[in-house]
Amino acid sequence: MTEVKCFRCGTCCKGYIAMIPKYSTSNLAPQFLENMEETEGYEYTSKYVDDHADYQGERCKWLQDNEDSTTTCLAHDRKSSDCINYPDATMQTECRVGKRKMEALRT
Ligand code: SF4
Ligand code: SF4
Repeated sequence: MTEVKCFRCGTCCKGYIAMIPKYSTSNLAPQFLENMEETEGYEYTSKYVDDHADYQGERCKWLQDNEDSTTTCLAHDRKSSDCINYPDATMQTECRVGKRKMEALRT
């Protein structure tokens, strides 16, 4: 299968991503959590994730719309592996829908 490039349409961030940072100080970046687990242990890290993750099914509060119809993640450095790995799931329907929408906006 062909890998689908991320077009920054933000479609996946409007309902498909499950785990997002809860507060502006919440960090769900995999490397950050890995380091925490090494220094503080599994129980502490698990509680941190419970306290700092929102499980959403609607538009993400960290998604910013840009004038050129792309989107920006305001939690980019703190986002979870759910967000980071999303485009790696090849041939996502949402990416194709988003690409079509963006192309339509630009014509
Ligand atoms: S945290 Fe960022 S990448 Fe993840 S759903 Fe929200 S806007 Fe999208
Ligand atoms: S739906 Fe696909 S193309 Fe659009 S932002 Fe998400 S990963 Fe990128």
